[in-house]
Amino acid sequence: MSYRAETESPSHPGVLRRYGDRIPDVGSNTPLISLGEGDTPLVHSRRLHERVGCRELYFKLEMCNPTGSFKDRGMVVAVAKALESESKAVLCASTGNTSASAAAYAARCGLDAYVLVPHGNIAQGKLAQAVAHGARILDVQGNFDDALRLARLICEQHPVALVNSVNPYRLEGQKTAAFEIVDSIGDAPDLLFIPIGNAGNITAYWRGFVEYYRAEIATKKPRMMGWQAEGAAPIVEGKSVADPQSVASAIRIGNPASWRLAEAARDESSGEIKSVSDDEILEAYRLLAREEGIFCEPASAACVAGLLKYARQPVGPSGGRSLAESTIVCVITGHGLKDPETALGIESEIREVEPRIEAIEQAMGL
Ligand SMILES: *Cc1c(COP(=O)(O)O)cnc(C)c1O
Repeated sequence: MSYRAETESPSHPGVLRRYGDRIPDVGSNTPLISLGEGDTPLVHSRRLHERVGCRELYFKLEMCNPTGSFKDRGMVVAVAKALESESKAVLCASTGNTSASAAAYAARCGLDAYVLVPHGNIAQGKLAQAVAHGARILDVQGNFDDALRLARLICEQHPVALVNSVNPYRLEGQKTAAFEIVDSIGDAPDLLFIPIGNAGNITAYWRGFVEYYRAEIATKKPRMMGWQAEGAAPIVEGKSVADPQSVASAIRIGNPASWRLAEAARDESSGEIKSVSDDEILEAYRLLAREEGIFCEPASAACVAGLLKYARQPVGPSGGRSLAESTIVCVITGHGLKDPETALGIESEIREVEPRIEAIEQAMGL
């Protein structure tokens, strides 16, 4: 099978073609596959920046990737390397977006995809994606950490590529989002707000910002501001959580795979890792949809909830830049359509009307 890069995605070159020279593992034998991932919009806040009181607030719309989450950036590299090493199958443990992305890229490249889903822990939209792409789905009677442990064991013993974020190619692909932010606004932001589940993405962004700083493409590095859900906040609490709980299924993780790396990103950047409650997450989810026109999944809203919470705190004595002078980016990691139950469960304003113009006029208040 040959992958002629120039025919894969003429409109969006994709992560491998655009940034392959900054990914050490991508060589002349790596197939330059793409579904047009990356190159996602960086949009200004229209309303929420006023509540925050910062100079600039942007949303990086990673929900606009081909399968609706940032996972595609890393998955394209992981699947390309699996092809290069002649693996016949990929396997992941996933509560959703990793499986949707693995299933899509595997389907495109003619690889088999297997997904270990922690029991009862997957949003319907994500499951629908994996099913549609023909992945074989195994419902493991355990939590995410059990599923990941088993996935690792299988891949140690069989010629199957593990495409969870413990796969080093995933983080290499994901770091390209940091490159794009700098390439779009001309420098790194002052603060980056990002949700944390397995902590791979915060690690990848930090790596990207550090690399661009060292290459003198950026003059500064952001403070990394990571947000866990209160019921799944092992890094905040300093101990793993046996039974993580949150409305935000993508960050319902009790023992993050990249725990130490995330702490290093926090400490090296003078950042913070804190938690937000499910109520705060749902409030930010609602505000993003209603005041910014951005329908993301609850996990994505966690970082915006974190920003709103951070902005309410009095400015500390640490001498850091005040928010009024700061450029801030929030990473909107996944699409709201993946989890329609949450959207419809919040407050649905659906009214029945008779099929008459007068009834509709009355209901519309005209
Ligand atoms: C995977 C995921 C996260 C968490 O990212 P980690 O790298 O696991 O910390 C957050 N939001 C969405 C939508 C995700 O799919």
